[in-house]
Amino acid sequence: MCGVFGVYGHPEAAKLTYLGLHALQHRGQESAGIISSDGRRLYAHRAMGLVHDTFTPKDLTGLPGASAIGHVRYSTAGGSHLKNAQPFAVDYARGSVAVAHNGNLTNAEELREKLEARGSIFQSNSDTEVIIHLLAMSTQRAIEDRVADALSQVKGAYSLVFLTEEAIIAVRDPMGIRPLVLGRLPGSDGPNVVASEPTAFDLIDAKTMREVAPGEMIVIDKNGFRSSSPFSPSPRRSCVFEYVYFARPDSNLSGASVYEVRKNLGRRLADEQPSVCDIVVPVPDSGVPAAMGYAERAGMPFELGLIRSHYVGRTFIEPEQSIRHFGVKLKLNPVSDTIRGKRVVIIDDSIVRGTTSRKIVKMLRDAGAKEVHMRISSPPIRWPCYYGIDTPTRSELVASSHSNEEIGRYITADSLGYLSLEGMLDAVSKTRGFEMAPGEFCHACFSGEYPLAMTPAPKARQLPLLLV
Ligand code: AMP
Repeated sequence: MCGVFGVYGHPEAAKLTYLGLHALQHRGQESAGIISSDGRRLYAHRAMGLVHDTFTPKDLTGLPGASAIGHVRYSTAGGSHLKNAQPFAVDYARGSVAVAHNGNLTNAEELREKLEARGSIFQSNSDTEVIIHLLAMSTQRAIEDRVADALSQVKGAYSLVFLTEEAIIAVRDPMGIRPLVLGRLPGSDGPNVVASEPTAFDLIDAKTMREVAPGEMIVIDKNGFRSSSPFSPSPRRSCVFEYVYFARPDSNLSGASVYEVRKNLGRRLADEQPSVCDIVVPVPDSGVPAAMGYAERAGMPFELGLIRSHYVGRTFIEPEQSIRHFGVKLKLNPVSDTIRGKRVVIIDDSIVRGTTSRKIVKMLRDAGAKEVHMRISSPPIRWPCYYGIDTPTRSELVASSHSNEEIGRYITADSLGYLSLEGMLDAVSKTRGFEMAPGEFCHACFSGEYPLAMTPAPKARQLPLLLV
């Protein structure tokens, strides 16, 4: 869960990167960083926290040059420390190189052990640093050959942006697991910006040109733009959870509007999991488009029965046990006059641990709902993600060890209904403009069908959850 951005050939490269990172903030809130190049050397600023809090105007002036890359981070591999904040940068025999990574490598541990045995000293415990060491040790001369050489040894999910003194290089893994798009700044002839999602371009008036293709490497330097496919081809497996929850609804991924996809998921949910209720209420913000689709298809009124406060920071001081339940209350509050006496169908995009749903159902009942029926616009999440989404270990995923009926009882809903796997894939694939073939998704978190194994295999820690 990270966002990456890169720009080449603009006098205010670091400021554009700062704006791009703002638009990608939903992809990671733990740390943010920018590295720029003035053609001679690299300049870095990284800090813990949100983009807005991390860069002062003085920090941005300290990042000169016409090219820059940036990163927002939510840790999925490696802990939440400043030493793991990206982009990473190193000086090696042929100059300097920096990298920003979204995704998770599946053979990082194995490679790290080998590198350490050969004398590499790691400064962080992030899997991304493995790429930097492989690149520095490559015997190839040209930077793009060094990058290709390093990446031919790693497996997993990576959308990467590299920065050297003279170039930016963008690479997407052969399965295209995490998104990466290419754009053009106003007045430019060719592509000169890359980002995790096109929303980053909207903010800086750049035009989205196309996706970086799975397995494609793009180099942008003083000679212009070059594209190559240095890796062995692989079946495409793009993450379906980007559409369900992670990407911004105003993004377009692989030709389809994420907002339209979510509405379609809601329509399909209404077909598969009907309910006889008075109102359809979303869990804001993630459940809003799906609830609109559900209400439209079911012919029931859509009501914003829960209002979200947008001022709840993540750094909220953990309260004492006696007031701990304030967590969800701080974020959401019911519109009691709308809820009271009604049969409510409440829509969310996913259930992970189940604790949020349980609190929301209670909140609606306390506000006077006559019945509360929960509907989820994706299938039960039963398997952890090894490719960069923070879906926790199996033991923490409520659906990994409990049936839908048990989860329904746990969250105290009158009924609980999930969208089927086939229904989800069909609804995404049938969205207007969608360019991928239906079989080209990774849906391992729902199905357990992992397109790439973890090496070494993760320890099986499947403890039963205690539902009370
Ligand atoms: P939970 O209490 O863990 O079941 O939380 C479910 C809520 O978390 C839903 O409203 C989802 O929109 C949201 N959610 C889904 N996946 C994630 C994730 N990987 N990280 C954080 N929140 C998530």
